[in-house]
Amino acid sequence: MIKEAASGAAAAVLAVLVWQGVNVAPLVVFGGLLLLLYHFAGLKGAGKKFAVVEPGKSTGLVDFTRIGGQQTAKKELLEALDFIRHPEQVAKLGIRPLKGILLVGPPGTGKTLLAKAAAKYTESVFLAASGSEFIEMYAGVGAQRVRQLFEKAKSLALKEKKKSAIIFIDEIEILGGKRGSHSSHLEYDQTLNQLLVEMDGMSLDDRVRTLLIGATNRADMLDGALVRPGRFDRIVQVDLPDLEARLEILKLHTENKPLDPEVDLEKLARDTFGFSGAHLESLANEAAILAMRENAETISMRFFNEAVDKVIMGERLDRRPDREELWRVAVHEMGHAIVSEELNPGSVSVITTTSRGKALGYMRQSPQKDSYLYTREHLEIQIAVSLGGAVAEELVLGDRSTGAANDFKKAVEDAKRIIAGGMSPLGVVLLEDLPRSLLHRVVRKLISIQEERVSELINNRLALLKELADILVTQEKISGEFLRRRLCEGFREAV
Ligand code: ATP
Repeated sequence: MIKEAASGAAAAVLAVLVWQGVNVAPLVVFGGLLLLLYHFAGLKGAGKKFAVVEPGKSTGLVDFTRIGGQQTAKKELLEALDFIRHPEQVAKLGIRPLKGILLVGPPGTGKTLLAKAAAKYTESVFLAASGSEFIEMYAGVGAQRVRQLFEKAKSLALKEKKKSAIIFIDEIEILGGKRGSHSSHLEYDQTLNQLLVEMDGMSLDDRVRTLLIGATNRADMLDGALVRPGRFDRIVQVDLPDLEARLEILKLHTENKPLDPEVDLEKLARDTFGFSGAHLESLANEAAILAMRENAETISMRFFNEAVDKVIMGERLDRRPDREELWRVAVHEMGHAIVSEELNPGSVSVITTTSRGKALGYMRQSPQKDSYLYTREHLEIQIAVSLGGAVAEELVLGDRSTGAANDFKKAVEDAKRIIAGGMSPLGVVLLEDLPRSLLHRVVRKLISIQEERVSELINNRLALLKELADILVTQEKISGEFLRRRLCEGFREAV
């Protein structure tokens, strides 16, 4: 609006000058130069607006109860927020007010949600920005934006008659990376210096208490000055949710959805090891979309299972291999599944020949429990499962294909984890200290032992593998339960 009025006024002035016979060419050139400078020197960006969410009016602020799991993070955060809620008590005890809290964790685990809940809990104004918004090619612009952000928080709080403001900076490692580590380091350093200056000045204004919440998944990249006491005083870990937290998050995100009575959220929570809160939200949403596509009244387990596959592997593709290739894919996936089920009963969730992302088919395992430590036996089983596909292709079709390249990569990674964990014949060693040829030999040995084990295992189940691969070609999907039943029957027939 202002822009339009200004350009209208400028045009009118020029018209009057031309009418009076004044030579306006130098003025036009000068104006053009100013515009160019405004555009390229980042001045335009310096006036950029930050996302502001104010409690009460806000659409975005959430309650701590709307965040599933993250008990430790919530507890630490709540403790820290009492500094804002009870300033008199803090002052009475002579406690230095807290200036910053750093939330560290993988993407989608609820760091932004926690910051928003903090603003709601403390009835503060909330301003959010991302580290990348502060980085410009031109020195000084980022620093100016940092200044503006803090000024804006203060003025907004005063305007709203609030006593506190929470500033949230996501991806803070972009703005607060170690000094001197960037190629255009002058701009980066100035921006970070300004942030440090603002943090140091935070306690000086007692009309508005400001708290900075930073979020990152690369705390190791942050400059030492930023994480020293007195700046980011608290570092709170925000991890991927465990089984119980996944169930809680699933409940939260399905609360407003019509679920079929047979939907088993506990099973879904078990099947989604490694999912973040954002993945789980997307899972609930995708299941609802699938139900809508089929005009279903309620969301059944079938839609949830399909949504799990979609979240892990991507959208189902129309690409359909020809019959011969499809048979190979089915044999390959059944190879993985039979090895997984034989060595770790109950581990297979589903086997399919649906193309998703780069995969022509896949076998999904469902871990019986969340594991954070792996034994040598577990890793050996994982290597065997990875090799199952290629070995099955070789035994049934006489040769292997490029489809196993990713499996081999994973097998090698697992073999290296055995070595790095001091569980190989080399004993306790540092992976990076090993000569490449020795590392290669030990990896090969670990893998070839499993290759022999898998060959024997699949050879014993060859007829059943072919029969199940046949079913997979026609049905596109086989459940873990069906596979287990057939393996049991096959075993009884053999006895
Ligand atoms: P990033 O690091 O990528 O910015 P983040 O950790 O800030 O991610 P959020 O933006 O807070 O993640 O979460 C994204 C979405 O995922 C939320 O809007 C919410 O729907 C869902 N979500 C994430 N964690 C949780 C949780 N613990 N409880 C409920 N929902 C969650």
